[in-house]
Amino acid sequence: MRLLYVEDNERLAQNTSASLRANGFAVDCVHSGEDAVHSARSYDYDAIILDLGLPDTDGISVLKAVKSVKSQVPFIICTARDSLEDRINGLDAGSDDYLVKPFDAAELLARVRAVLRRPGGALGVWLAAGNIVFDTVGRTVEVAGVQARLSRRELDLLELFMRRKGRILSKDAIENALYGFDEPPTPNAIEVATHRLRKKLGDLDANVAIHTLRGIGYFLDDDGT
Ligand code: CA
Repeated sequence: MRLLYVEDNERLAQNTSASLRANGFAVDCVHSGEDAVHSARSYDYDAIILDLGLPDTDGISVLKAVKSVKSQVPFIICTARDSLEDRINGLDAGSDDYLVKPFDAAELLARVRAVLRRPGGALGVWLAAGNIVFDTVGRTVEVAGVQARLSRRELDLLELFMRRKGRILSKDAIENALYGFDEPPTPNAIEVATHRLRKKLGDLDANVAIHTLRGIGYFLDDDGT
């Protein structure tokens, strides 16, 4: 799951991004309206978190500019503007949620998950494939009832495979979904993480297979083969 976080207060942006990343999201942080519109047009985000008071423009104009080309992407406005009129304006402009500063990172996380669960959103709470169950809120995985010990990157990768199970994922698509532009993957990162994930799942007798199609990509197959 990849998020765009638009916030000009760098300290807040850093702290909040760290919480989001620790919970399995790839986060691209930008500090101006212009960069926000550019990034949102260049990448497919699962959700956009938007401050309203930006140095170059108002957040509402960013929201409208992005919605005009990507109408489906959910927005959460995070702002110090707390009047009833501001909240109504933000929601009426097309934002899916509105959170007033100061906020707790845990609440923002819950709201991000909530907008991603809505129809058309990217997230369900529980994912299942074969004997694997993935709790996307608790960030835990069980294989036949036994908890798997996976690194953050392996969890993110497995989540992506499970969400797209049976469909081929190119290496580029995986990199785009898992890595923000501040943390580019090393050349073999996907191969290495996939190899480790396969081994750990195999050790727990998971009855799914992660197939590699050389030069094309990967897919997760849960029909027991
Ligand atoms: Ca601001």
